[in-house]
Amino acid sequence: MVSPERTGYDSYSLRPKFLSEYIGQENIKERLKLAIQASKMRGEQLDHILLAGPPGLGKTTLATIIANELNANIHVTSGPILEKQGDLAAILTNLEAGDVLFIDEIHRMNRNVEEILYSAMEDFQVDIMIGKGPAARSIRVELQPFTLIGATTRSGLLTSPLRNRFGMIFEMNFYTQEELKMIITRAAEVMGTLIDDDAALSIAKRSRGTPRIAIRLLKRVRDLSTVRGSENITLNIVEEVMRLLGVDEFGLDEMDRKILKTIIEIYKGGPVGLKSLAASLGITEDTISEVYEPFLVQSGFIARGARGRIATEKAYKYLGYNTLPGGLFDGFGNIE
Ligand code: ADP
Repeated sequence: MVSPERTGYDSYSLRPKFLSEYIGQENIKERLKLAIQASKMRGEQLDHILLAGPPGLGKTTLATIIANELNANIHVTSGPILEKQGDLAAILTNLEAGDVLFIDEIHRMNRNVEEILYSAMEDFQVDIMIGKGPAARSIRVELQPFTLIGATTRSGLLTSPLRNRFGMIFEMNFYTQEELKMIITRAAEVMGTLIDDDAALSIAKRSRGTPRIAIRLLKRVRDLSTVRGSENITLNIVEEVMRLLGVDEFGLDEMDRKILKTIIEIYKGGPVGLKSLAASLGITEDTISEVYEPFLVQSGFIARGARGRIATEKAYKYLGYNTLPGGLFDGFGNIE
């Protein structure tokens, strides 16, 4: 890790701190602003919030902003590290009135840990089991009112009792190129670097609609710019780095191309199930479905049907195949 002293900025300062600095997700921001204002005016605790969307879209950032806007402390944890009911109970009983509890990857929580969240969310109380076997008994502990913010990359995997206890569910969208360009320009400013307009737009186009990727690419581009002793980050520098990284003008990288090639060459264009695809590629099913697939689907390279994933005509053209598997396309790029 590079220390903040050496870079002159830290990743914390790259994160916007208030809603007004958070770029994009306009509809979510508007609804949040209203809910926060109303809860403040009534002096009531803000309802629990679920943020859903692919990694890197700004869920953690938004949770921190909500806490800031509420003038509240935020406690951060994540679903998979809460192994026992006691782990979560300890956090819940330590919350102070008005606090925000952020649980990342909330869909990965153990079912028995999740169960104690139900009454915590609904009635601000938990039932804790003391002892084991016939002597075991449960005691009820009252909690301070708090707001739970859950983040998930897969809202479909949430159980309905948990899902139903959120007052607001926000599905986050991929960012537009203009929004990403603004995020890149602002991040460059925080890093103390100037970036040309066309260079920022070029990074934005290759960022898969995702701020985290935009910032990661910007950092690599900044490296070359520093080494070259360039005053500004220019389009030439961006293009050179993208060639080096194997990121093309659609934002697709080696793994994306490997996924598309595998569907086309090994599975004759699909449909192929997630399990088989993961085995052929040597990566986990979650990596495909959470990291790669959402963007490939949204940009029309893959279609997802009941029987599995299919490579679209766009994928064939993109990879330079001339022939399409018979009967799969109706000539307009639609799947029959
Ligand atoms: P997630 O929790 O969804 O995986 P993060 O909140 O960690 O995503 O965001 C990833 C990075 O992108 C962070 O560095 C954050 O500063 C930046 N970022 C995300 N959303 C925005 C936004 N709307 N405006 C500016 N920067 C953003």
